[in-house]
Amino acid sequence: MNKKVLLASLLAAFASSAFAEEIVVYSSRAEQLIKPMFDAYTKETGVAIKVISDKEGPLMERLKNEGSNSPADIFLTTDAGNLWKAEDMRLLQAIKSPTLNSNIPANLRDPDNYWFGLSVRARTIFYNKNTIKPAQLSSYEDLADPKWKGKLCLRSSKNVYNQSLIGTMIADIGAPKTERMVKGWVDNLAAAPFGNDTAVLEAIAAGQCDVGIANTYYYGRIVAKNAAFPVTPFWANQAGKGTHVNISGAGVVRHAKNVKGAVKLLEWLSSDKAQNMFSDINYEYPANQKVKADPLVASWGSFKHNLINVKAAGTKQAEAVMLMDRVGYK
Ligand code: FE
Repeated sequence: MNKKVLLASLLAAFASSAFAEEIVVYSSRAEQLIKPMFDAYTKETGVAIKVISDKEGPLMERLKNEGSNSPADIFLTTDAGNLWKAEDMRLLQAIKSPTLNSNIPANLRDPDNYWFGLSVRARTIFYNKNTIKPAQLSSYEDLADPKWKGKLCLRSSKNVYNQSLIGTMIADIGAPKTERMVKGWVDNLAAAPFGNDTAVLEAIAAGQCDVGIANTYYYGRIVAKNAAFPVTPFWANQAGKGTHVNISGAGVVRHAKNVKGAVKLLEWLSSDKAQNMFSDINYEYPANQKVKADPLVASWGSFKHNLINVKAAGTKQAEAVMLMDRVGYK
């Protein structure tokens, strides 16, 4: 081997060891929703990604217990409330990335750069097209009006999506107004709160109630299979500050061994190509505003997003839980 070839092969070996270092992701998202993106990243870069899946609670406990021995580089989960909790438990580290800051709008990422939204879901009003006209609807607050008595279906207050919606509203319109609204919702319930969003949408379809609140992608999963589903979204609070949006997202773990690799992967996930996959697979909206939504998702129309930073879902979470408890929202 001559000197030139030796040098080239040494450089290549160095490059591959430096760039192909495995990335370990702790993820609470369903594997089929993230695997296609990670496979595409590995194909493009040669970097292997190891995914450890569990619910967000156990994963956060695990990160805490593992401390500096943790093999995790990235924590990926749904809901800003969960990401905030990971930040609050000091499980994440702030990262500097002009790419992420330019691809992800400011309201969809942590102001201190501990986590970044990678897809967007709207939590809005859904109604039965056979019994309700959209002109009868306006806002989350209006669902507290006695005209909806016995007509409203909601998911349980134990769910983080509702805690985030209420927490964000506390930050937005204040606790007294929010509490009056939630009290009105409880008075209007057609049935005890449901265990998941899909059950809410099915209860509206079945005529058990006329209106409810759910995340858009659960609706997307239903109508992708059943176009005749008699329920449709109404964009809440368009005359006010806009519809509540939340994220799925990720942050770099505080004791990550491969910080560079982790940042690169997050940057790639915020890029056009990955954003299409990331949002389309689960009928979510891209976080990167340059990317178009899946045609089915786009068919629901565009709407004004409430631009309050999603971090409020976390900082107001405890207050939201206590408020819902006070008015008997189970
Ligand atoms: Fe969900």
